[in-house]
Amino acid sequence: MTDWRSLTTSFRFPTGLLIDGTWFEGSDSFEVISPIDGAVLGRVSSADVADVDRAVRAARRAFEDGRWSGKTPAERKEVLLRWAQLCEEHRERLALAHALEMGKPAREAHGVDMRAVIRTLQWFGEAVDKIVDELPHVSPDALAMVQREPAGVVGAVVPWNFPLTMAAWKLAPALASGCTVVLKPAEQSPISALLLAELGMEAGLPDGVLNVVNGPGHVTGQALGRHPDVDVLTFTGSTEVGRRFMEYSASSNLKRVWLELGGKGANVVFPDADLDKAARTAAWSIFYNAGQMCSAGSRLLVHESVHDDVVRTVLDVAATMQPGDPLDHDVPMGSVVTHEHRDRIHSMVVEGLRASGETLTGGSPVLVDSGGAYYPPTVIDSVASDTLLAQQEVFGPVLAVTSFRTEEEALALANGTPYGLASAVWTNDLNRAHRFSRALKFGVVWVNCYEEGDLTVPFGGVKLSGFGRDKSLHALDKFYDLKTTWIDLT
Ligand code: NAP
Ligand code: MG
Repeated sequence: MTDWRSLTTSFRFPTGLLIDGTWFEGSDSFEVISPIDGAVLGRVSSADVADVDRAVRAARRAFEDGRWSGKTPAERKEVLLRWAQLCEEHRERLALAHALEMGKPAREAHGVDMRAVIRTLQWFGEAVDKIVDELPHVSPDALAMVQREPAGVVGAVVPWNFPLTMAAWKLAPALASGCTVVLKPAEQSPISALLLAELGMEAGLPDGVLNVVNGPGHVTGQALGRHPDVDVLTFTGSTEVGRRFMEYSASSNLKRVWLELGGKGANVVFPDADLDKAARTAAWSIFYNAGQMCSAGSRLLVHESVHDDVVRTVLDVAATMQPGDPLDHDVPMGSVVTHEHRDRIHSMVVEGLRASGETLTGGSPVLVDSGGAYYPPTVIDSVASDTLLAQQEVFGPVLAVTSFRTEEEALALANGTPYGLASAVWTNDLNRAHRFSRALKFGVVWVNCYEEGDLTVPFGGVKLSGFGRDKSLHALDKFYDLKTTWIDLT
């Protein structure tokens, strides 16, 4: 059993900007504060417009001279597999970084996040040398070739909730396809990204192939979004910032933009479901990672006839998931990402309750004396479907419960938000499962489960949840251009 607290004494991390294989001091720097207890973890460099420009120019040179794009897919695979191996060797340090900078239980970061990171690097490494181009039979007098070419320089801007998983979902397919990358981590989670990049260099990524620029979104992220020499911008984050990237693209070079945005997921529970499993899973789907998940099941839509049973079980689970120090071994929930975020969650709860709803548990910050940012599992019943808590992403451990009478009503409620990332239906009626899952307007639909997935299946949304797809072979399409060459044979 890892003693996470004792590991903190030897915890070191790079603090610069990684540009062209070299660590630089940025033009400015910012403090990284731990949400565990408010302690200062250190200062890291932040990149201004000129620093971002240097990083993009390094990525451009590295792309154009073929030091990476010119390698065979099998050679790139070797580097990605070595990188995965190094992540395995440094798994505890990387997990600890998650806990310290964004408050996730270290044990969970080790088991769940790092497993995802390692597998993502391996999976795209293994996939990319099995992909072949196309020679369609167009005419006896011509040869048509359809070739995938790496798209060029990729800007990747990621959030803090699964800092390395989200980064790996972008980096692995982009690098596997031969692109070069400038990564902009979230301000709240710069450290894990720097450690990951350090290992990438050690694994053999040539200089300039992966560059990392930390810094505030409105400066560093914007500079990347507006840069005229970035070919593809892949983003995971809020819908609000996603819109900006479309604007940055439109007003610069029309770079391709891929958006993985927010969500307002629902668990829809019919009376014929396995109610115990439905309730336990629904609770887990909103309390896991302190609810800081785009795909969180932040709404529970439950048939009125089973409402009381289901809610009772949800409350039982909530009682077992009270937050605590992320460095404790058995803690079920850590802190939320920052003190500001805790206050934002709380103000949304307070404002939401003004419109409708009744708090059954939670509803205000806890462990305040620790100096950390903790918010407990919160369940709010009788939330009206057109009010804040049913419509807006809180991004905290806050569940909005709404009852329904008919299947038609349940469907209208489930689809009745601007988001469309992920949702689940719980029923043991086969016809209803098919009918309802087909009618749900979400990129990911689960039947009698939640958050199930695999690297082979795509993840992403519709409507205001965006339109990119991470994971699966489809993710590679974001980083290739299709080139058609037509040769006259007459
Ligand atoms: P966010 O505020 O949108 O930030 C995401 C990234 O964009 C960060 O790196 C941020 O940098 C940067 N950014 C912020 N303002 C910017 C601007 N004006 N121009 C350019 N870049 C800017 O999201 P977050 O709070 O980190 O993460 C939570 C959101 O991510 C939620 O909405 C959640 O649903 C979504 N999410 C979606 C998925 C998915 O796959 N669909 C997965 C995970 C999370 P700074 O933080 O440094 O300002
Ligand atoms: Mg933010």
